[in-house]
Amino acid sequence: MERTLSIIKPDGVKKNVVGDIIGRFEKNGLRVAAMKKIWLSKEEAKGFYIVHKERPFYDSLTDFMSEGPIVVMVLEGENAIAKNREIMGATNPANALPGTIRKDHAENVERNTVHGSDSPESACFEISYFFSMLEIL
Ligand code: ATP
Ligand code: MG
Repeated sequence: MERTLSIIKPDGVKKNVVGDIIGRFEKNGLRVAAMKKIWLSKEEAKGFYIVHKERPFYDSLTDFMSEGPIVVMVLEGENAIAKNREIMGATNPANALPGTIRKDHAENVERNTVHGSDSPESACFEISYFFSMLEIL
């Protein structure tokens, strides 16, 4: 049993594909252990993506992540971190496999519809960025 943080980014919420995305997680054996819809400020988006602060896309990425509401979730299941990333597809939708969320919904490498933790360490930081222990069931 493993937990990972998933985000449906502003482009996914705007396209109204929240249910489609959650259905894909559930069909693949992941369970929603916590969930909420929130609108990040620029500063909150910068804090979440602090690992990317030296990257050239940091400013544009954090503008995008704060442009509208997002849905944040804790997903739980066997190999949840790797499984979530497999369901999401490659960062750049041009390289994403057919049937993945990014292949079906993402516009480009930045507006790529979903986020998923990439390691147990980042899952731990990212889950605690949004949820308290009392909110994860
Ligand atoms: P995420 O962390 O959102 O799950 P990822 O792990 O596939 O995605 P990262 O390398 O961690 O990709 O990049 C974080 C996010 O930054 C990407 O999801 C995307 O929104 C944006 N991003 C990544 N590379 C670029 C790029 N070359 N140009 C613009 N935005 C980018
Ligand atoms: Mg990442």
